[in-house]
Amino acid sequence: MLGSAATGFDTVSVEIEISIIRGIPRHTVVGLPNAAVRESLDRIRAAILAEGLDFPRGAITINLAPADVRKEGTSFDLPIALGILVASGTILGIENFEKTLIMGELALDGSVRPVRGILAALNGAMNRGCTTFIVPEGNVAEAMVLDGIRAFGVASLGEAIRALSGRSEPQKESPLLNGRQEAQYTMDFGDVVGQKGAIRAMEVAATGGHNLLLIGPPGCGKTMLSRRLPSILPDWTSQEALDATCIHSLRGLGQGGLLGSRPFRAPHHSVSMAGMIGGGNPVLPGEVSLAHEGVLFLDELAEFSRSVLESLREPLEEGSVIISRAQGPVRYPARFQLIGAMNPCPCGFSGVVGASCTCHPRQRMQYRGKVSGPLMDRIDMQVFMVPVDPTRERKDARMHSVDIKERVQKARELLGASPISTSTGALQGDTAVLLNRAVGRLGLSMRAMERIKKVSKTIAALDGATLASPLHLSEALRYRRVWH
Ligand SMILES: [Zn+2]
Repeated sequence: MLGSAATGFDTVSVEIEISIIRGIPRHTVVGLPNAAVRESLDRIRAAILAEGLDFPRGAITINLAPADVRKEGTSFDLPIALGILVASGTILGIENFEKTLIMGELALDGSVRPVRGILAALNGAMNRGCTTFIVPEGNVAEAMVLDGIRAFGVASLGEAIRALSGRSEPQKESPLLNGRQEAQYTMDFGDVVGQKGAIRAMEVAATGGHNLLLIGPPGCGKTMLSRRLPSILPDWTSQEALDATCIHSLRGLGQGGLLGSRPFRAPHHSVSMAGMIGGGNPVLPGEVSLAHEGVLFLDELAEFSRSVLESLREPLEEGSVIISRAQGPVRYPARFQLIGAMNPCPCGFSGVVGASCTCHPRQRMQYRGKVSGPLMDRIDMQVFMVPVDPTRERKDARMHSVDIKERVQKARELLGASPISTSTGALQGDTAVLLNRAVGRLGLSMRAMERIKKVSKTIAALDGATLASPLHLSEALRYRRVWH
């Protein structure tokens, strides 16, 4: 009998061995069980009796192996219950049960409740050679995301017994994973009036995987534009979709089936460190991981706590987070594109034509200083946005997501499979001269220079070129130093 323990995104199959010997009734659970696993014996006993079966007398020893892996949560109820029934001879003639992964929480009346993290557990177990799965009915849609799986969705202990003894049929194959899913987005850049410059910046950011900061007065459309960014990101592979879906399943956010589109996460600026990075007990993935393979949008960037903003450094650099705990570190993937948005100053109107800023220069400095340092070092592009006068915009000039996305995909192919890690390379001839002049004039750091080179290469790729021209470079320079 196998259960599953999760250490973050990574899972371990847990072998459940049960021995029953005659003697004084006594229950022992060995192998690092936490309180929930120990309490589960009461539920298991009630559930077995509710099915009209006998709970064995005698001394029951339950061993969860390997012992050095922390077992948490209630998903061991069902495999332990079935293990007890097999050991006591109530269920007979079971074959191949050492390759059967079983998960589910039992209620006192014998019904089986859904558990968190089914997808990651099954995905891991399949990679380790498991072939058959017995899972709560409420989780079976999530499980069917996996290709070629033999899964039983059970609503009660009785149904689980029938599944284990081969007296019921596995779930039919799901039609969900026939080939790659075309992502569905409800929002389109075609809905946006004006903001051509900002949309162009989004196209560049989407192509190069560049982190972007939108600066502008309240109401100029920073959030509205950002919500549309996933609609121009390249189609994702089934593996990427599966990884992202696994993380959502760990948080209990699975709606059954693969995620239909790249995630867009927009945590409020009051989010805690654990909410952003992950943590808690039991440990859960945070916003950075829920945004994996998608977009993390931080509105009012200057209002986030400094420690939360600084904690973004690790995922931005490594593409994953490691949460340290007493029981050992937990890893979650966290490769996302960061879009920040903020006002130019506390009152919101600094640098806006036709408006006047009422802030003291020191207030402005302090406000901008909140997002300086390590985080700004990882933001490749900045754009200053101003409100749009809708009467002055032509309707036919709108850009639709599908057209932008096509350009993004083409340029990404030119940049190589992994644009984020593409080496920046040197710029040649006139372009290099221009860059050196700009560096001198603007007093740019080496790091800033590398970023400008990267963005230039992305812009060149959108133009079908592998080398940046002075024109490409000057666009890249525009995405620097936009404060007024
Ligand atoms: Zn102001």
